[in-house]
Amino acid sequence: MVAARSAAERREELVALYQRLKDCHDCPLKATRTKLVFGAGNADAEVMFVGEAPGAQEDLEGLPFVGRAGQLLNELLSEIGLRREDVWINNVLMCRPPGNRDPLPHEIEECEPFLLERIRLIQPKVICTLGNFATKLLSGQPTGITRCCGRPQYREIAGLEVVLYPLFHPAAALRTPATKEQLRQDMARLPELIEQQRPKLEAALAAATAPAEAEAAEPEPAPQLGLFGG
Ligand code: URA
Repeated sequence: MVAARSAAERREELVALYQRLKDCHDCPLKATRTKLVFGAGNADAEVMFVGEAPGAQEDLEGLPFVGRAGQLLNELLSEIGLRREDVWINNVLMCRPPGNRDPLPHEIEECEPFLLERIRLIQPKVICTLGNFATKLLSGQPTGITRCCGRPQYREIAGLEVVLYPLFHPAAALRTPATKEQLRQDMARLPELIEQQRPKLEAALAAATAPAEAEAAEPEPAPQLGLFGG
């Protein structure tokens, strides 16, 4: 069961979570990171992107996907009529592993509750996992991205029914033209996927939340959280 909270309340809780985490030293990455990268975008987004971990530029700015991989993500979003401000972008890890090495199992374990908490607060309908780490973590399956990219999966994550949509990581796409083309084609199907799933997922969310939320009559403007930095 998901607690009944308006978008404004969920946004406030998201800000409080950020305040609590920005000095997080639950794992040794605190010693080598510059800034914690909490995530950024629309706190009430229908679509969330989950990457792997901040890179060098993200670590400096405290924002996700602002380097070369982020530029490609921006480009692919704009091809389907979306802006970064329309979606929520974050990572499995909030802190950069030294030298951009792969996340370690215990680091993923430490950070996972906070990713799930962001999912619980933002309540996305579609979660696009970028690459192997996010896909394996949120699907709970060992299947690699090459075998499952572009195939929507219906899952319960953080108490919410969502569509998990695995995609190649933009950094991998920058290295290999065929991967980039596959990512572009899979991204192009995202708007249709959202449209198809919206009624079903809205009904599931309404059923999962208490009546108080359904009675909160006033539609709220989408809150923007673009300036998170550690
Ligand atoms: N790669 C990621 O996985 N995340 C970022 O934020 C940047 C690069």
